[in-house]
Amino acid sequence: MKSPNKIVVLDDNNQNLKLISDVLEDVGYDVSLCLTSYQLLDYLEEELPDIIILDVMVPDINGFEVCKRIKENERLKDLPIIFLSAKTETVDIVYGLEIGGVDYITKPFRPIELIARIKTHLEIKTIRDELKEKNKELIALNEQLEEYAIKDTLTKLYNRRMILAKFDEEISRCKRNKEVFSIILLDIDHFKNINDNYGHNFGDEVLTVFANVLTSSKRLQDLVARWGGEEFLLILPETDIKGALIVADRIRQQVSECEYLSSDGVIHITATFGVAEFNQEDSSEKIIKKADYALYFGKNHGRNQVNEYEKIKDQ
Ligand code: GH3
Ligand code: MG
Ligand code: MG
Repeated sequence: MKSPNKIVVLDDNNQNLKLISDVLEDVGYDVSLCLTSYQLLDYLEEELPDIIILDVMVPDINGFEVCKRIKENERLKDLPIIFLSAKTETVDIVYGLEIGGVDYITKPFRPIELIARIKTHLEIKTIRDELKEKNKELIALNEQLEEYAIKDTLTKLYNRRMILAKFDEEISRCKRNKEVFSIILLDIDHFKNINDNYGHNFGDEVLTVFANVLTSSKRLQDLVARWGGEEFLLILPETDIKGALIVADRIRQQVSECEYLSSDGVIHITATFGVAEFNQEDSSEKIIKKADYALYFGKNHGRNQVNEYEKIKDQ
């Protein structure tokens, strides 16, 4: 069964408190009573009621001030506050509503009306809470969608679409500033054997670890993406071919040193790398083709090596 709604009431008059609590408990609410504002504020540090009923003329801190404090508190600010006060001037009522009260009932009050208003505000609160929850779910889903749009789900590296967008940015920047950058395309050697020997799941794990090795061996400014199945692409901003070859060979080495624990014990995997430097006439397709050419040259010449397009293009 749903637990009863919690209502906390502030009133500096004991008789009023007794009357209000009798009315509310009759309906089945779980009622807490506070004779001073400090008592209420202490209560709110521990508890989260569904509705707060505030008297206005209270000696220690008046009800309006208490309302303002509640509204400034991130945890409490959405709790519905109903003023129940002997201050019956329109200006007071308007002020109470302006500072965040959801309702203002004047004393002497009609019990039936108080109950009806509380019921309405509880319903509104329930809907609002549900909306807040749904909104949180939506935000989380949206973040996940954004991640899916730019990242590969297995390795969490940028996906092909994202790296192509980065590519275009890099090309525009380099054309504008007459700068240079290089790319590295790499493909794991004999990866099919890994799947065939140890199963597809193990292959997936290898890809995930491999992606982490790439991320930790590249430099901070380099971008890395999963280009396809077991193929990866790096963009090296402000790096000429000489620098790119050094980076590529360091990654090649670190990749080959990584240990993977298979059902046959520790295994190593290697990869073959193709490197190309951007020149001002290149499109992204063109420079990728160059790197691809260098990569396949390496596949045909023993694998586990780095080749640069300009050096092997005529071979
Ligand atoms: P090479 O040295 O010539 O590159 O040989 P290879 O076996 O690596 O190349 P091949 O293109 O013949 O095979 C690639 C394999 O990679 C086949 C494919 O099933 C596997 N692969 C691609 N994507 C995934 C993936 O997401 N998970 C797993 N487990 N395997 C994948
Ligand atoms: Mg391969
Ligand atoms: Mg491949």
